[in-house]
Amino acid sequence: MPELAEVEYYRKVWDGGLRRTITRVALHGEKRLFRGADVARLAEQMPGAKLLGSEARAKQMLFRFSLDLWLGVHLGMTGKLRVEPPDFVPSRHDHLVLFQKRHALVFSDPRMFGRVLFHEGRAAPAWWTALPLAVTAPEFTPDLVQAFLARRARLAVKAALLVQSAFPGVGNWMADEILWRAKIAPAALCGTLTKARAATLWREAREVCAVSLATVAVDFSDPPDDWFYHQRWTATGRCPRDGGPLRTATIGGRTTRWCPRCQR
Ligand SMILES: [Zn+2]
Repeated sequence: MPELAEVEYYRKVWDGGLRRTITRVALHGEKRLFRGADVARLAEQMPGAKLLGSEARAKQMLFRFSLDLWLGVHLGMTGKLRVEPPDFVPSRHDHLVLFQKRHALVFSDPRMFGRVLFHEGRAAPAWWTALPLAVTAPEFTPDLVQAFLARRARLAVKAALLVQSAFPGVGNWMADEILWRAKIAPAALCGTLTKARAATLWREAREVCAVSLATVAVDFSDPPDDWFYHQRWTATGRCPRDGGPLRTATIGGRTTRWCPRCQR
């Protein structure tokens, strides 16, 4: 499942087609990832429009075109964006291709948990403007985090970090990274966290999101060497702080790894 930084990485892939006009569209309009989108209008209106810019928020991307056209892309589990030559021939997993004179902008998604949305209008669509506040936004304050934890007092903090309306874009490995840095046990209930620990959680959530965007989102390079990230994937993983073995459990439905010595 792509997380914040991976989504930002893929968003920028289509920058290769910026300020260029769409000449032709190929799509698999009958597939479920176009549910709710007017695919006939998309195919009819898009040729002649120029790609003007794009933005990523959490796991959602918005592409802005001239002629008041907007395209939303959600990568789902296996979605990817790429750029191919203009004579590209789509395969069965390439569900949307925007052809330009020099490029083909491709959205592929083998498992089809992704989503393509289409909007016509002067203003950005409601499904975009209604998205929750980014963890890295200035308005995302320690008070907001504390209020959320108080509302979810009986929820494990690991599960709370995966609530997309509160921590948009934070996925499984990022949640483990945040908790390891904050020295909080993943199974700790939100209601038991003091104000000081909630503030630490807020600070580490912002740091992990910001650094992920600055590393993973640039060229898909891994986060810094001293991150927990590098240890969490293998059975032999060790805590970067104390070198001790990690523990594994399923919390909030997701595989969770943590250090039982420094996370309490
Ligand atoms: Zn440790």
